[in-house]
Amino acid sequence: MNETHVKLSNFDAVVVGAGFAGMYMLHRLREAGFSTRVFESGAGVGGVWYWNRYPGARCDVESIYYNYMFSEELYKGWTWTHKYPDQTEILNYLNYVADTLDLRRDIQFETKITSAHYDEANKQWNIKTDKGNSLTAKYFITGVGCISASHIPKFTGLDSFKGEWYHTAHWPHKDVNFKNKKVGIIGTGSSGIQAIPVIAKKAAHLTVFQRTPQYSLPARNQPLDPEYVQNIKERFQEIRKDARASRNGYSLNATTLSTQEVTHEEREKKYEELWQMGGVGVVQLAFNNILTNEAANETCANFVKKKIQEIVKDPVIAEKLSPTYPIAAKRIVLDTDYYETYNRDNVTLVDVKKAPIIEVTPKGLRTTDEEYDLDILIFATGFDGMTGPLLRMDIRGKDGVSLKEKWENGSQTRTYLGIANAGFPNFFMITGPESPSVLGNVPVAIEQHVDWIANCLEYLKANRIETIEASKEAEEKWSRHCQEVAQNTLYVKTDSWYTGANIEGKPKRFPIYAGGYGTYREICDEIAIKNYEGFIFVGVPLEQN
Ligand code: NAP
Repeated sequence: MNETHVKLSNFDAVVVGAGFAGMYMLHRLREAGFSTRVFESGAGVGGVWYWNRYPGARCDVESIYYNYMFSEELYKGWTWTHKYPDQTEILNYLNYVADTLDLRRDIQFETKITSAHYDEANKQWNIKTDKGNSLTAKYFITGVGCISASHIPKFTGLDSFKGEWYHTAHWPHKDVNFKNKKVGIIGTGSSGIQAIPVIAKKAAHLTVFQRTPQYSLPARNQPLDPEYVQNIKERFQEIRKDARASRNGYSLNATTLSTQEVTHEEREKKYEELWQMGGVGVVQLAFNNILTNEAANETCANFVKKKIQEIVKDPVIAEKLSPTYPIAAKRIVLDTDYYETYNRDNVTLVDVKKAPIIEVTPKGLRTTDEEYDLDILIFATGFDGMTGPLLRMDIRGKDGVSLKEKWENGSQTRTYLGIANAGFPNFFMITGPESPSVLGNVPVAIEQHVDWIANCLEYLKANRIETIEASKEAEEKWSRHCQEVAQNTLYVKTDSWYTGANIEGKPKRFPIYAGGYGTYREICDEIAIKNYEGFIFVGVPLEQN
């Protein structure tokens, strides 16, 4: 053992991350009587909502659904102010949960887990932190999120830049002063699209470096009527039931109507109605075949492109902002005044697909066309999604095999249910690769995983089972199933962080289960009912084996 590592203690469970996932995992494990320690790199709870403090940061799921739903009391004790909550309100909510459940006493903040190695002889995990702690745990559980490993493309010259630079996912905990500044932002995904309108109002000039345009729908965010909120609280049981059974983790009045059953005029009228209403309705509520049928998808995509052309006064800029891939093949973005921002005199849109960025210079950014002078450079360049947060730790299972080796660096990411890995006993991932997680309202996915894992650990304890591990066969079958389900979707037809295409050198693969939250929950429940079918137990008393 490295002598600088001071032995802390032995725990039943060590959990990584104190966001939505780690916080609830801690609560469930404590309730079940497992000694648990959570490690969190931030100075407070919140996970992505602790770090993503960029201007305009807001959730794209309605606040009434973006909650823990395991406790009616907890749900009713918090009152959201807006239809779509902003980062500050969500962080306040998570602090309210941490206070109510008295979570902080078991969380070690400002500490990263650097390695977790499985010790086969002692059937335990040997874990180390960047603060020199060394500890052991029977169970190692990650709640690291799917989009928490931020990514900065490898541009040369960043060190030479004389101005300030930031990544949206690691925004400083102080106000960044944009007044009289020339600001550049790279990236037009959810983060960029939210930040651009807010920064444009404050900066002297904003240059947006866009590689691929993204479809964005108006959120039409608004304060919530207290009477409506009260009514929702009273309907808690129904809301929870709907959210859990739904495809995306929130209740939607799904339509049975397809695009082919109506005339062009009726279709446009429907899209217009939902566009005016705001939110994801244009894509998710209008017709039942937009996500599965290419011709249907095109009617929706064309409607949004027509809107872009109506809003953006300069037709050349409108054209540059119009995507060419199917709508909703990437996570749909909700915005406030995004397209309108391009009518401002102080905003310039630069197409860096046509003229790629070559380097960061001391004065700004150089593309193949020209150099742009900047005082502040913002990277809204996203994340190494799904596998990134896990592979940034050195996790090793049996025979010292690392997760990176097992997943062949992401080209063969294989898990069982997105929860477990063959060769990694007593290791659980909350919303890991090949779970449905990011394709919906993530807190609902998290809660389902945490409940499943906590119930599983209680089962192991009750039956005196020492270790649980996914079988290779079950894992291969699940992974194959995920790939098959994905082939029937539009997600695999477009490059995005879903497929890993945004990371230089990352093999392309869609490591997400696209069969919907409700179906996935049924599959996981059935596996548990069948005494954890597909898992191998060690240490089962003979009479039960
Ligand atoms: P993202 O969707 O991956 O967008 C990254 C942007 O950076 C893209 O426009 C990308 O262009 C661009 N980019 C990356 N590398 C580049 C390069 N070398 N040169 C030029 N441009 C480059 O990341 P994100 O916006 O942070 O969003 C990621 C996910 O986080 C979302 O899909 C969503 O799930 C979640 N999120 C949610 C919210 C919310 O709840 N409202 C807010 C923020 C984020 P390409 O498209 O060409 O790669």
